[in-house]
Amino acid sequence: STDATSAAIALEDEHTAHNYHPLPVVVASGEGAWVTDVSGRRYLDCLAAYSAVNFGHGNPRLVAAAREQLDRITLTSRAFHNDRLGPFVTELAELCRKDMVLPMNTGAEAVESGIKVARAWGYRVKGVAPDTANIIVMAGNFHGRTTTIISFSDDPDARDDFGPYTPGFRTVPYGDAAAVAEAIDDNTVAVLVEPIQGESGIIVPPASFLPRLRELCTERRVLLIADEIQSGLGRVGATFACDLVGVVPDLYLLGKALGGGVVPVSAVVGDRDVLGVLRPGEHGSTFGGNPLAAAVGLEVVRMLATGEPQQRARELGARLHERLGLLVGHGVVSVRGAGLWAGIDIDPSIGTGREVCEALMRHGVLAKDTHGSTIRLAPPIVVEPADLDWAVERLAEVLEEL
Ligand code: PLP
Repeated sequence: STDATSAAIALEDEHTAHNYHPLPVVVASGEGAWVTDVSGRRYLDCLAAYSAVNFGHGNPRLVAAAREQLDRITLTSRAFHNDRLGPFVTELAELCRKDMVLPMNTGAEAVESGIKVARAWGYRVKGVAPDTANIIVMAGNFHGRTTTIISFSDDPDARDDFGPYTPGFRTVPYGDAAAVAEAIDDNTVAVLVEPIQGESGIIVPPASFLPRLRELCTERRVLLIADEIQSGLGRVGATFACDLVGVVPDLYLLGKALGGGVVPVSAVVGDRDVLGVLRPGEHGSTFGGNPLAAAVGLEVVRMLATGEPQQRARELGARLHERLGLLVGHGVVSVRGAGLWAGIDIDPSIGTGREVCEALMRHGVLAKDTHGSTIRLAPPIVVEPADLDWAVERLAEVLEEL
């Protein structure tokens, strides 16, 4: 790495908590699917900030919406109304075909909010006895980093030394609807599921899994909560990963791309009979629903309402998966995913996911490993087809070199 890179990394390392292990690249600017580092070197961004930058770095529509709002007003708190929140929640609810939106900021907050809503719904609507509600979650889940969320993680790195843990969760194997059926009892208020598991390695469940969960939840009067924070808003070639199997959950949890990579914006979206349980004073957030977030979020929703990003992700995704498929047996053990989202298992005899990502970086491609030997590709949906091909060629080259 260059002097500028080493100096920037040393400065950051000295005074930040070491809760991440970033690749040794220091990004200074970005445009579309490309970023430029402090020494002027360009890289194709194949992570897109874990899908938060689905619409590209510096997306002109999103930057314009943010600029315009910066000059008006950015924060009112919800002690008062602001004139941007109404249009945002109206059009987001319409995109989701639901009645109501609970605006928050980060993904973890949307998950926490969904858990609170499900519990309140359980006690007030379903009639579960106070403080006895349970929520069914999946093995291998990733829903964020708060103390309650890590309480039902099975990743020791996420969990160990952070207890005591929040009770009220039951873990079943991902993709196993029969196990969910068995785990549901009279006190079950929700099933919380990633329609495709992201952090776990882009794990796609059997096609019958989510439709079966939908049936079970309806039969047993349990809320189906889809965490679409990473899978939703265009990434998989549809608005939601649930759409791929024709499933409509009771609550959508959204984040990441909802803020277009400009500001943190998250939301819980659902119908009035569920989200309507919240009463004034029971839940909130100083920044949730702020006018800057709402202005950017509204523009994100309007882009998705055209269906264009979804179609582009579908087409480019087919291209990506076709090309990645050719690498199976050539350093790649298997490829999974949907749309412009791929989990690639590297032959462990070639190297770790981290080593592959470091080599890719030297070739001008930024990607992220997850869980040992898997690397994930999730470039901004605005990526040019030729650039996408180029990234796959770099991967092929790296796999031959290592
Ligand atoms: N849920 C899923 C499926 C995620 O992938 C993530 C982040 O990676 C989160 C929740 C947490 O979001 P945040 O990091 O914004 O709190």
